[in-house]
Amino acid sequence: MSFKNFLAGRWVDGDDILEVEDPATGETVAEAPLAGEVTLERALEAARKSAERGDLAAMVPQRRADLMRRIAQEIRSIAAEGAELLTRESGKRLSDARAEFDEAAAYFDYYGGMADKMEGKHIPLGPNYVDYTVLEPVGVSAQVVPWNFPVSLAARSLAPALATGNAVIVKSPELDPLGLTVLARALEAAEVPEGAVSILNGTGIDLGAKLVASSRIDQIVFTGSVPTGQAILRAAAENVTPSLMELGGKSAAIAFDDADLDTLLESVRWGIFFNAGQVCSAMSRLLVQRGLYNRAVEACAALANSLSVGHGLDEADHTPVISARQLGGIAQMVSAAIRDGAIAAAGGAPLARAGHFMAPTVLRDVRPDSRIALEEVFGPVLCMIPFDTEEEAIAIANGTEFGLVAGVFTHDLSRAHRVASKLRAGQVFVNEWFAGGIATPFGGIGKSGFGREKGVEALFNYVRTKNVAISLKR
Ligand code: NAD
Repeated sequence: MSFKNFLAGRWVDGDDILEVEDPATGETVAEAPLAGEVTLERALEAARKSAERGDLAAMVPQRRADLMRRIAQEIRSIAAEGAELLTRESGKRLSDARAEFDEAAAYFDYYGGMADKMEGKHIPLGPNYVDYTVLEPVGVSAQVVPWNFPVSLAARSLAPALATGNAVIVKSPELDPLGLTVLARALEAAEVPEGAVSILNGTGIDLGAKLVASSRIDQIVFTGSVPTGQAILRAAAENVTPSLMELGGKSAAIAFDDADLDTLLESVRWGIFFNAGQVCSAMSRLLVQRGLYNRAVEACAALANSLSVGHGLDEADHTPVISARQLGGIAQMVSAAIRDGAIAAAGGAPLARAGHFMAPTVLRDVRPDSRIALEEVFGPVLCMIPFDTEEEAIAIANGTEFGLVAGVFTHDLSRAHRVASKLRAGQVFVNEWFAGGIATPFGGIGKSGFGREKGVEALFNYVRTKNVAISLKR
């Protein structure tokens, strides 16, 4: 199978190639071409022309909605093939890879439903004026995608951008770019206008940095780490390019004494061990009230130890992290935390086997001000912290530079509302981590970034309001 770059409706080779590795075995899955400067220039040129012609913007909105739904269908038809490839390159479970393609299709259906409902408004200025607003597409949207959910996160931004009539250039993640070439095939099969979308593979330093620094883009949508987000914002400042930042997190769940332990454990299972913990909104800290703490530690450790370990294609519960580098960083942070006084109730080190496997890890008695409690690990590492009072729990939960998600586990509805209102986070889950879906707005506070993706709200990232005021005076 060829994994060329999708350049404005055509498939082109790269200037260089990159070996894509299976993180579960260390074997090479495929060679992916890296788009060079010339390819990027051609993509920028094509996107600008497409935006100026209004390939999508000038389309009758209902036809644009139809196109979006066709893309959704095409994604579903190639999902099985794409999922297998995504598992091989990212290490994730096959069913989770399949869910990514299904979610990608769902984004196109969801935003397809909105393509003909982006309405401006009439503003009353008295009898001598007519005033109305128009929601115009921003133009060329440059989107930089991370490796943890490359297909669904690309679709999360691509779908609302296309539904609102923009041209888009996607920079796929260099560690697992293959799934996005399959997504590009679905766009091609659905007959997206040539020039409206390019999906290019390249490294962040080369392709990503050049794309976001270009004066020919009208917007940057970035999902990734804080340091990269900061570098991109510096580049954006040069051209005053509007940017959307979806960055990292160090999210806390607060479990009160009255929380149901089984419900909590189900959330821990997915909250921190899903995708080997490589989730921006992972439950990386679990604060437990003193009366429940010891039982919760034991149960979380037993859960971690019960997970089967293996290849994603075999549907193992626990799969590798993306790279040797990622594993090294996780292991280093965990051993420093243990030196700092945390106790490994489960795991605590890489597993002795081929591939990049970190043992599912539960650290107890983590100091709230220690490095591991404040910085993103981006791996299967749960930090458990005891607390006594509601105020103390809120202070610990809010005590990092991040503010992506947070959770409350309690049967006391008043307390759930009260605590939710005080948590500094873009979204709060009550009694179920990851509650919500593509219809619920998602984004951060503080170093977790700004802007909201998902839901109807996300559409407004991809349009700008123009006001037209008409004097009727003669
Ligand atoms: P990363 O920042 O290393 O890379 C993200 C993307 O940016 C990659 O495509 C990379 O090639 C590119 N890039 C790197 N340097 C660049 C530069 N100077 N200019 C332009 N592009 C550049 O992040 P990652 O390791 O791929 O992803 C993990 C991080 O992403 C975590 O911090 C995680 O929390 C975050 N994340 C956030 C969300 C969210 O919605 N908030 C979702 C997923 C992941």
